[in-house]
Amino acid sequence: MELKDKVVVITGGASGIGLAMAQRFAAEGSKVVIADVKGVDEAAAGIREAGGQAAGVVCDVRDEASVAATMKFATDTWGGVDVAIANAGILRDGLLLRVDKATGMVADRMSVKQWQDVIDVNLTGVFLTGREAAAAMIDGRRRGLLILLSSISKEGNFGQTNYSASKAGVIAMTVAWSRELARFGIRTAAIAPGFIETPMVMKDMKPEALEKFKQIIPIGRLGKPEEIAETAIFIAKCDLVTGVCIEATGGMRL
Ligand code: NAP
Repeated sequence: MELKDKVVVITGGASGIGLAMAQRFAAEGSKVVIADVKGVDEAAAGIREAGGQAAGVVCDVRDEASVAATMKFATDTWGGVDVAIANAGILRDGLLLRVDKATGMVADRMSVKQWQDVIDVNLTGVFLTGREAAAAMIDGRRRGLLILLSSISKEGNFGQTNYSASKAGVIAMTVAWSRELARFGIRTAAIAPGFIETPMVMKDMKPEALEKFKQIIPIGRLGKPEEIAETAIFIAKCDLVTGVCIEATGGMRL
């Protein structure tokens, strides 16, 4: 796909990986729609100041009407949707069961809220973003691309029952949609980042924990948001890529 003047909608686009992707697609000449719960106007203004084309829209990916309104905003502003990146995601880590060492009895459980909050954003949010973007592409007679953010945690990570389940579900949607939507000229691919230096990962990170992470990553460092953005650009440019997940992890495995 040639990226100049293509309309690219990015959920969670005001921070971290989403913002890096917005900047990178804008540098390719794309028209970027930054869709996030907050910070959209500042993020879009930053891209425009750097010479790119960008518009911001407040979007909560958990909400069907909000996601539909986001695709309508893209269509009203730039004429349609060519690429949608379902990037918005949250962490609510915790053990399935916490056992008290002294008594050997279960002292705490992962709550249904902790489970549901992550599923609502990371799974339902991706479902709604993909569905509404594909509908806009088909109705607008545009061939298109869906990029879904999974994670290395899709394999099943300690302390991440909720997050791992959501990110494995994203892979299933990638394959299902690559089959269902190919006849409309729509490709779907996922990216599974390892540990990336973004607010999500860095905000509560202690220096000791950071050192420990570096030791288990073969390249000896965390990834940069720009490197995940580069992965998205590769997917967008190579029309043969669909129905797969590209792991960008610095060699790390769970
Ligand atoms: P980030 O810096 O926290 O950015 C995520 C953005 O999504 C934030 O602006 C966040 O807003 C927004 N968001 C949260 N809930 C939303 C909702 N309901 N609707 C719309 N936007 C919402 O995180 P990131 O590290 O860039 O992560 C981006 C994606 O990559 C996520 O799907 C994440 O799971 C995935 N990923 C990240 C890593 C990593 O190491 N960083 C690794 C693997 C996968 P708030 O700040 O208000 O929550």
